[in-house]
Amino acid sequence: MPRVRSGSAAVWDGPTAEGQCLCGAVRFQITVPARWAWHDHAADSRRAHGAAYATYVGAYKSRFRITEGADLVTRYEDGGIKRSFCARCGSPLLYERPRAPEMVNIPRALFLSRTGREPRYHLNIDEAPDWAYVGEPLAPLKDFPGVVWAKPKRRKKTPDGMF
Ligand SMILES: [Zn+2]
Repeated sequence: MPRVRSGSAAVWDGPTAEGQCLCGAVRFQITVPARWAWHDHAADSRRAHGAAYATYVGAYKSRFRITEGADLVTRYEDGGIKRSFCARCGSPLLYERPRAPEMVNIPRALFLSRTGREPRYHLNIDEAPDWAYVGEPLAPLKDFPGVVWAKPKRRKKTPDGMF
């Protein structure tokens, strides 16, 4: 189980936001407002989440605590970067970076309520994949209720002799 320090009792007198993994075995809290929130477009975070990008809420470790299921938290470490997951359901739980050792980053999607910070920052945007949705217009897909799609872009005709 990762060693994540919990804050002193006084820290927890104020409002908190709670979160959980997919299966609900691991539950945690932070005090609110969180320190910050951000979108990470890095390839490593994309792979760790299996998603186009990850949105994190950053909190001081002293203002984060696991309230249930600490024995189910497992960790992958590489180059000083630590990523923790629920051993039962695989949900990403924590992302710790050596450049900010006092902070822990938690996927925004795991929280059950607001965290006091909106994700206004984009990190590693140069690593965003060309297939990520970036707000292009969507239209209903015929015969598939509830499905919308981005129509293919028209290709510009290339003049002869060009590649
Ligand atoms: Zn779980």
